[in-house]
Amino acid sequence: MMAAPANPEKQIRSIEPDDERAFMDAIDVWLEREVIPVIKHHDHGDIWPEELVHQMAEMGLFGATIGQEYGGLGLPATTYAKIVMQISAHWMAITGIFNSHLIMAAAVERFGTPEQKTLWLPKFASGELRGGLALTEPNAGTDLQAIRSVAVRDGDDYIINGTKTWISNAINGSCFAMLVKTDPKADPRYKGMSLFIADKRDGFTTGKKFKKLGYNAIDSAELIMLDYRVPASQLIGGVEGQGFFQTTGGLELGRINVAARGVGLAEGSLRLATEYAQQRETMGKPIAQHQAIQLKLGDMVTRARAARLLTMDAADAYDRGERCDMEAGMAKYFASEAAVENSQEAMRIFGGYSYSKEYDIERFYRDAMFMCIGEGTNEMQRMIIAKQHLKNNPA
Ligand SMILES: Cc1cc2nc3c(=O)[nH]c(=O)nc-3n(C[C@H](O)[C@H](O)[C@H](O)COP(=O)(O)OP(=O)(O)OC[C@H]3O[C@@H](n4cnc5c(N)ncnc54)[C@H](O)[C@@H]3O)c2cc1C
Repeated sequence: MMAAPANPEKQIRSIEPDDERAFMDAIDVWLEREVIPVIKHHDHGDIWPEELVHQMAEMGLFGATIGQEYGGLGLPATTYAKIVMQISAHWMAITGIFNSHLIMAAAVERFGTPEQKTLWLPKFASGELRGGLALTEPNAGTDLQAIRSVAVRDGDDYIINGTKTWISNAINGSCFAMLVKTDPKADPRYKGMSLFIADKRDGFTTGKKFKKLGYNAIDSAELIMLDYRVPASQLIGGVEGQGFFQTTGGLELGRINVAARGVGLAEGSLRLATEYAQQRETMGKPIAQHQAIQLKLGDMVTRARAARLLTMDAADAYDRGERCDMEAGMAKYFASEAAVENSQEAMRIFGGYSYSKEYDIERFYRDAMFMCIGEGTNEMQRMIIAKQHLKNNPA
């Protein structure tokens, strides 16, 4: 395994094929033995999978993309994407426990001061501190520049007041990359935004936990900051006004991660539908022999393959240290829509049994839609892709 810096912000990474295969085999064994038998229990009861979280920490998943010099595995984005695809092909939600955590870690690794990297990254890599991204507020999701949480400098500290909502890992996590305003009057608005390493302590509590359609077992809740005092040394990069850039700078890896989840959901839906269609019989033959079902399977297998190729294309570009926001955006958009379409088609193939909680396909259907919303809605994604395309092709 090798990790050599390409420029101050990006790392060129690769892995030996044998090492990757061994890691993927270990993930397979873990899925078969530990995860698959307990998915329904955790998903149906919306129960946080504590035992599996310990196992993920032991496998190094909380440090998957963190550099080896900080105790992480230093995996390239291509291997990371394959891991996320493989797990999501059985249970997407569980990847949310380490995915948003790794995006927080990436913000510190790319933009933090040397002291911040040395202090925080080893704790993130081991899973001693776990968390995620705290961006969204009740009045601001897509329009992140409208956030109202404010940090005011007070000696060697900042005092933060505000509310974050829909934050993954809010209850079971203890540390977040938190976007706030350090200059609420700044014009343009993004110049007044800063990103902090916000660890739970006095003044920083958890609010309402959301009951969700899907993406169960992972906690989504509010975070409330009431005169929360955080040391100035936890301002990522040490300079105010960089938060918006630092947040959007992490979106490439974030979008590759959501794309990989979409691929897993699309492939998992296809796998379940294929097995069912070969075993369920009507009119004296398996439904897989009816042309109407074959048309669905043909579409599903093509969508899943295209989603995988787009995602690996974006991850490859990321690993080469190239700018890949457009590739990552296209992968995220296509793969998440593929997840929704394949899970819906699989529901139709399962007929009435798709509505039974005894089968897994209903979970894929419930979980898929979130992929179209997180890391930038697909509506925004399409507009960003189009704008970049037009920029690359001026009149
Ligand atoms: C299960 C779950 C987990 C989440 N986890 C996290 C997390 O860990 N951390 C975090 O910070 N956030 C998290 N979120 C929040 C998520 O990022 C936001 O929901 C998302 O960014 C969309 O914001 P919004 O819900 O406020 O929708 P809005 O921004 O209100 O958008 C509503 C609709 O309007 C469209 N729209 C908005 N602006 C425009 C425009 N300019 N042009 C065209 N269309 C537009 C959108 O595409 C969308 O269709 C999570 C959400 C969910 C559901």
